[in-house]
Formats: sequence, C-alpha cells, structure tokens
Amino acid sequence: MASTEPKDPDWPKEVHFRPIGRICSPFDEKFGIPRQARLAPAARARLELLPPYDREEAFSGLEGFSHLWLVFVFHQDCLTAGWQPMVRPPRLGGRAKVGVFASRSPYRPNPIGLSAVRYHGLERNQQGLALHLGGVDLLNGTPVLDIKPYVPYADALPDASAGFTAALDDRRWPVVFSDQASQELASADPGGQLDLRALIEQVIGLDPRPGYMDRYPQRDTFAVRLHGCNIHWQIDDQHAMVTRIIPMHSAH
Ligand code: SAH
Repeated sequence: MASTEPKDPDWPKEVHFRPIGRICSPFDEKFGIPRQARLAPAARARLELLPPYDREEAFSGLEGFSHLWLVFVFHQDCLTAGWQPMVRPPRLGGRAKVGVFASRSPYRPNPIGLSAVRYHGLERNQQGLALHLGGVDLLNGTPVLDIKPYVPYADALPDASAGFTAALDDRRWPVVFSDQASQELASADPGGQLDLRALIEQVIGLDPRPGYMDRYPQRDTFAVRLHGCNIHWQIDDQHAMVTRIIPMHSAH
C-alpha cells in the first residue's frame, strides 16, 4: 500500500469548499432544533440552490429516492468557536463527556454536519431552484456543501451497535394545547400548510430543555421560536401544555 509522503508539496493542508445552497427552515435559533435528523418529521425545509448549481440536470435521477444525505456547515458560532477533544452530549444529560469524534457535536475541528433527511422533490419557481425536505435538524440559513442520495443497500446497517447512544431515553412528552393556544394556532397556520401543530408537538415532545432542566421547578414556562412564532409551554409530570403561540411581529 502506498503511504502518504509527508513532504508532498501538493498534499492539501487546507481545503476550500463553496456552498451549493442555503437551507430555509422553521428554526431561527438553535434552541428547539431536534438533536438529530428525522426526529421531527414535520420539520420541513427548502434547500435553495445557488448558481451555478441551480440546474435541473444536476438532480436528474434523484426523483426515485425517498431520502438524501446533506453535508453542511455548522455556520453559527462553530466556525469561530474552536474545538475541544471532549464534549458533553446533551443526551447524556450534559453530565458525561465523550471524545469529539465519538459524538455528533457541532463543535468539531471542521464544523461539518451530516444529516439523512426526507426528500419531497424539486421545485423551480421565480426565486430559483429548490429541494423540498422533511425531518431536518438544521438552522435557518445553514450552508449546504453537498447532496447525495441515501442508498439503503449500502447505507442502512440494521446490525450496527449504537455505542453510548443505545442507553438513551427516547421518551416523548405528550403535548396538549390550551384553548388560547388552539385559537392562536388556527390564526398562525390557518390552512395547516405549515403543519405547525405537528411541528410543535414533535419539537416540544422531544423536550428541548437541556438535561439539567430535569431539576427545574415544575410549571416554569419555556419558549421556542418556530416558523416566526414564539411558542410558550409548561411542563408538569404528565404532559407538556402549550399555552401561547405568538407571531413575532405582534410579540410583546
Ligand atoms: N445530523 C447532524 C447534526 C447533529 S447536531 C450530524 O450528525 O452531523 C444537531 C444540532 O446542530 C441541532 O440541534 C442544532 O443545535 C445544531 N445546528 C443545526 N444547524 C446548525 C448551524 N447551521 N450552525 C450551528 N449549529 C447548528
């Protein structure tokens, strides 16, 4: 086997990539974004392609695939934050540490993310060419570096072992809506096109509060921003209750 010649002057010490597109998602802040792709199927997004990549022929054949891999940049905070060899994954309650390369933390030497998402097709309109996606774990504005089809024969590994994630608590909170929140939901998403009810149920059901919040007093109010609305909720031992859905333009 050929070994890498350390003195090879052509070996790239730095690489430069250019985003091919930009994510338009319901998540304007990191709080509330699911910790992995596909945990919230109602998290729909558009991937808006940038020229010169906004050409239909670059996507021909993709229509037969139900899922895609996205390779993207954790552009918010992570490009400048630096990295640590050990991180505290939120699903270990923020208590235990693992190596950064044993984690899916956004804070890594090269802040590159990888998500398998649902593919709902390509659309050309006045704004340009876009892919419709579902189940994203991506901040609004995320730069995307590459798209590849998810190929089950190679990518699906039913016998894979799950490391420290095997022991995770995948409990979901049942989510209910107060009368006021139900009325506000009806005006925030009148035709249901945003699927805002399902998105709220899935995001809050996953309990986005940091692990240490387990010890917080009950019935504190929390807030998350989805599709430009401030969603308030409270937790008791039984369920999460959505109390308000306030569009940002009228938030006070
Ligand atoms: N599935 C990806 C991402 C897992 S981490 C992977 O395994 O590589 C998911 C978290 O990344 C989200 O909960 C959110 O807090 C954060 N995130 C998503 N988009 C981001 C962005 N553009 N910049 C910084 N952090 C982001």
